[in-house]
Amino acid sequence: MPELPEVEVVRTGLAATAVGRTVTSVERRAPALRWPIPDDLHARLAGRTLEAVERRGKYLLLAFDTGWLIVHLGMSGTLAWARADLPLRAHDHLDLVFGDGVLRLNDPRRFGAVLWHDAADGSPQGHPLLASLGIEPFSEGFDGALLHAGTRGRRVAIKQLLLSGTLVVGVGNIYASESLFRAGIRPSTPARTLTRPRCDRLADAIRTTLSAAIAAGGSTLRDFVSSEGASGYFQLECNVYDRAGQPCRVCGEPVRMRRDQQRATYWCVGCQR
Ligand SMILES: [Zn+2]
Repeated sequence: MPELPEVEVVRTGLAATAVGRTVTSVERRAPALRWPIPDDLHARLAGRTLEAVERRGKYLLLAFDTGWLIVHLGMSGTLAWARADLPLRAHDHLDLVFGDGVLRLNDPRRFGAVLWHDAADGSPQGHPLLASLGIEPFSEGFDGALLHAGTRGRRVAIKQLLLSGTLVVGVGNIYASESLFRAGIRPSTPARTLTRPRCDRLADAIRTTLSAAIAAGGSTLRDFVSSEGASGYFQLECNVYDRAGQPCRVCGEPVRMRRDQQRATYWCVGCQR
């Protein structure tokens, strides 16, 4: 599943290739993904210039002067820039055509979303899907003090709280395991017991881990394709994730793994308390 680093890589790519170009047509080939794709996108966007590509959590916000196209890649989606004459593949559900280039959305499992938020309705941050998201990990307000305040009274394990996205967005399963390793915190630790210094270390670890993944070009989807069509991601060198039984890179203890529902948690008993 594309996680925050992958979406950020897509955003950066689109900002470099598509921003400043004018939409010439919109072709919708599927009526719906997770929700219906608006059927009036051609009328809304033809002749409009893409002004910016922003990100909130895992949502991409394509900004036009009349509003925002909100795109989520779901479980399997890709949004790739290509030549407009590139032959269609299965699951190419939406094209935003910009003259000789096209922004093409492919989503085999159709858990993604394409929604329109009109400028008349105010900032897209007020959209129901975005309004309740946790803070951005790279925003100024995200630090140990915020994590400390947000974990008071919470009995839930810190890893579960991170995965929920209500405290901070973008810390999916891989990044939660890796961040907690870097911070020396065992994933099962009740959130409310974390001291302020540990919260400081965790905030730093989350930023460091996500930055490394973004630098590596995203890391979680085996067939993930960036907006420029480059593939073969998976370059983040994990310390614990997917390394059950292998020696910890720091202390040599075998990495432990526990599975809850469908999710696997990895940690080192030597390095994480
Ligand atoms: Zn260790």
